[in-house]
Amino acid sequence: MTTTRHYPTKSFAPPGTLALGTLLAVVLANLLVVEAFFVSAGPGKNSLLTVAKFVGVHVALVMMVQLVLVARLPWLDRRIGMDRLTVWHRWTGFTLFWAVLVHATLVVVGYATLDDAPVPKTFLALAGVPASLFGMIAASIIVGTAAVSVRYARRRLSYETWHALHLLLYAAVAFGLVHQFLETTTFTSSGWATAYWSLLWIAVGVAFVGGRVVLPLWRNAYHRFRVAAVVPESDDVVSVHVTGRHLDRLPARPGQFFIWRFLGHGRWWQANPFSLSAAPDGRSLRLTAKAVGSASAALRHVPVGTRVFAEGPYGAFTTLHQVKDAMLLVAGGVGVTPVRALLEEATGPVVVLYRVRTEAEAALLTELEGLVRARGAQLHVLTGRTGAGSPPNNPFDPDQLVALVPDIRERDVYVCGPPAMTSAVLRSLRALRVPRRQVHAERFSLA
Ligand SMILES: Cc1cc2nc3c(=O)[nH]c(=O)nc-3n(C[C@H](O)[C@H](O)[C@H](O)COP(=O)(O)OP(=O)(O)OC[C@H]3O[C@@H](n4cnc5c(N)ncnc54)[C@H](O)[C@@H]3O)c2cc1C
Repeated sequence: MTTTRHYPTKSFAPPGTLALGTLLAVVLANLLVVEAFFVSAGPGKNSLLTVAKFVGVHVALVMMVQLVLVARLPWLDRRIGMDRLTVWHRWTGFTLFWAVLVHATLVVVGYATLDDAPVPKTFLALAGVPASLFGMIAASIIVGTAAVSVRYARRRLSYETWHALHLLLYAAVAFGLVHQFLETTTFTSSGWATAYWSLLWIAVGVAFVGGRVVLPLWRNAYHRFRVAAVVPESDDVVSVHVTGRHLDRLPARPGQFFIWRFLGHGRWWQANPFSLSAAPDGRSLRLTAKAVGSASAALRHVPVGTRVFAEGPYGAFTTLHQVKDAMLLVAGGVGVTPVRALLEEATGPVVVLYRVRTEAEAALLTELEGLVRARGAQLHVLTGRTGAGSPPNNPFDPDQLVALVPDIRERDVYVCGPPAMTSAVLRSLRALRVPRRQVHAERFSLA
């Protein structure tokens, strides 16, 4: 018979909930102010144009939320995680697309009704007015970006091509901003309204440029990262050790990742996210990558001494979110990298499940075994093909999971592996009623 042990619960408010609450409160507060300015500015020239104006000011607000979600602000990123923030960015992106379409259609039809003119003629007339033309250019870029972001198109484009097209959105923001300041009556209706709107855009701009440009540039100038060693772990897995100055001041935690760019190696334009595969020790960082495409395969040939531009640390797959003292770490394939780093930081009782097809494919296994021994933890290497044999080999089915870890509900569970495996584990954790705030997943994909 198995007995269930109980471990104390850490007693702080979940950081993710706090950050989400703060974000929502800021968005709602601004929404209320914007609507108050909209009402006080009075209606448009007809009812269609009033609705167009209403949608228009909300388009601008959604644009700001879009920028904040991808500003990579450390406080938000550590609490919510870049994966969730980019998923929200994707959904607000499609909201923006529909809102822009509705706004543009209502403006054209509204003016056509007002002038009693055909819609195409009104469209051409509006295109001759600079303020409207800027809006049209912004809208066209937003519509085009949404088109290349739907799953069908996204899967057919390389990450770099899609990303380069996506960057055009910054031009859309610039054109949209000029359009707003030339066209809107809501924010020119009073000095207060203009000041508020300008300050809001300045705050968003500072957050975005600070998080995306200033902080990474400053960190790289300060730390001067360089490749210290390249160590093959197997035929298709390689570890890259990176050193630099004052690494003890880099606020990186086990479980986090950086977006790495290896300069002067003929691939400076490629930047790829890789997790830290060892806890940062203040002297060096290590990433371990499986070769799946050109950038990850080329890491094996990066010369020692190569300058590295690293953006980060990012991610919420850390013990900041740990609720219980006990942990279950679940790794699948190369998803072992952040799990290996987290194991170094673990202080309470730990069980590690490592899912691989064969032990020979298990990257970093010897290190994992050493750490498990040193910490008195348990390690189960789960091999074999899923569904094979009788009974079928489904180690992450609820029954088999609970047989391996009987006190699973008393643990924080950290899962990182291929998408199908991660989803299977998350489904089983729900079936086993492991509280949601004890479940943490890193999917190795950003929307
Ligand atoms: C948070 C996070 C942590 C990761 N940690 C590791 C790790 O520790 N070890 C490991 O082996 N792999 C890790 N990955 C996966 C790794 O980033 C991809 O395998 C790698 O970027 C593939 O690039 P490629 O050019 O070799 O292959 P490609 O064939 O060009 O890319 C394969 C897929 O990888 C994704 N990808 C490529 N470039 C980027 C990018 N710049 N940003 C986001 N996604 C991109 C895209 O979905 C792309 O379709 C991680 C991914 C994420 C999102």
